[in-house]
This record gives sequence, structure tokens and C-alpha cells, in this order.
Amino acid sequence: MLTDYHVHLRPDEQGTPAAEHFTPANAQRYREAASERGIHELGVSEHLHRFAQALEVWTHPFWRQQATDDLDDYCAFVREQTDLRLGIEADFVPGREDRMQNLLEAREWDYVIGSVHFLRDEAVDMRGGQWDIWRSADPDAIWRRYFETLGEAARSGLFDVLAHPDLVKVWGDGAPRPRADPRRYYELAIDAIADSDVAIEVSTAGLRKPVGEIYPARAFLELCLEAGRPVALSSDAHLPGELGHEYERAVEWLAEMGVGELAVFERRERRLEPLG
Ligand SMILES: [Zn+2]
Ligand SMILES: [Zn+2]
Repeated sequence: MLTDYHVHLRPDEQGTPAAEHFTPANAQRYREAASERGIHELGVSEHLHRFAQALEVWTHPFWRQQATDDLDDYCAFVREQTDLRLGIEADFVPGREDRMQNLLEAREWDYVIGSVHFLRDEAVDMRGGQWDIWRSADPDAIWRRYFETLGEAARSGLFDVLAHPDLVKVWGDGAPRPRADPRRYYELAIDAIADSDVAIEVSTAGLRKPVGEIYPARAFLELCLEAGRPVALSSDAHLPGELGHEYERAVEWLAEMGVGELAVFERRERRLEPLG
């Protein structure tokens, strides 16, 4: 079994309206590309912040710019006009857990993917933009806050999967690196992850980013495996051609670490299936 659950039906740029991308023909393009790569468990997980209802949770200016589509239209499209699993990629917004829970519980997802892109109002993955956290803060402080927040996201119980778990490394040498060993920061998240029931995403998206590595780092994944957490495999594709990107490498890497099963989701129930 191979899965690709963290998948977007359109690029993140503006000018990618739902009407052009949430179509049976586009879903079919994704299904065909996945089949060619041997991926049978395929789902989509659009960014929550591209839907108007996201503003019930948080009103960051970036979200206000982006939140234009209707969330229930998206859910109805996926359920009624495609054979894809229905997911969503939602940010963890500290202090807004109740609002997020209300929004999520009002819809029938197959899975909810939780992400940490923002630390307060600044983002770790928007280099050079208005909300670029790397312009001001100390890299060790950013890494510490990132992993503390990731732990809180796991502990919140809001999510089935923790996305790109060490996204903070995304820029590689294109952002200041922490001075301390990253393991010191991983430790800040691991107790909360061990106490949670969340699956850990192994994402090949990092191989397409400046860092050029799978998310998460091997040392971080090993801690999660020791804590008994299952693995969810995804590519974070934003185009059909990115589905299953470098999966051969990921599968080999997982096998080296003794991972023999992948998490599979349906109506927010998780089961494990043999990997490969
Ligand atoms: Zn993300
Ligand atoms: Zn994503």
C-alpha cells in the first residue's frame, strides 16, 4: 500500500480559483498520475485558510487575503464528484483550539492534517515576505518555539496527522541555522507527541525545497517511532506531476528504519496497512 493524503488540487499562488481546480477533470488528472505511481490511497487536503470559514478561527491578514472559497462547497465537491478521500490541512492556532474544533467537527473528514506554519503572526516558510520570521528573530529561539508549538499541536487532539514535522528547516542554508544540535529542539515536542494519538507525516516535499531533505529528519522520526507513533506518507503535491515525488527514496528510507506499515484513514478512523 502507498498513500498520498497531503495533496492540494491547486498551487498556492493567487489566481488559482476553486472553480478552475475543483473539477472532476482535475481530480481525474490526480487519480491517473497517482495510479501510474502505484498510489491507490489518494486524498486531498486543501489549505483551510483558503476558505471563508477559516476566518471564524483566525483573522491574520494573510488569511483575510486568502480566505475566499466556500469550505462546504469543497467538501461536497470531493464527496460527490470524486473518488478521493476528503481531508483538510489546518494550521494549529494556539488559543483558538475551541474555534478550530467547532469548525472541524461540523464536517465529515476522512482525516485532518495539522500544520505549524506560523509562530504567532510570523511564518517560518514565507522567506522574504511581509511575515518572514527569519528577518528578525534569533534562529535558536525560532527552532525552540517551533518545536514547542508542534508539541502543543499534537497535544491538542485536533489532528490525525502532523504535517511536515520539521518544516522549520525548509530554507536550509537560505535562513539562519540554529547553533544548538537540532535534537535539543526535537526533545521539546516529543513528550507531547508520545502522549498524543497523532500520526507523523513523512513528506517528500522537503526534497523539492531548498533544504533538499525529507521531512522530518531521521533523528526526529526515530524519536517518534520510539514513542509508538505511526507514519503517514505524503508528497504535499500541488500539481499532479508532484504526486508520489521521490517515493522510492522515501520507501527505502522508511524500510531502513524498520517502518513496515503506513497509516490509512477513513472517516477519521486510522488503520495500518503494509508499506509498499
Ligand atoms: Zn503545509
Ligand atoms: Zn500542504
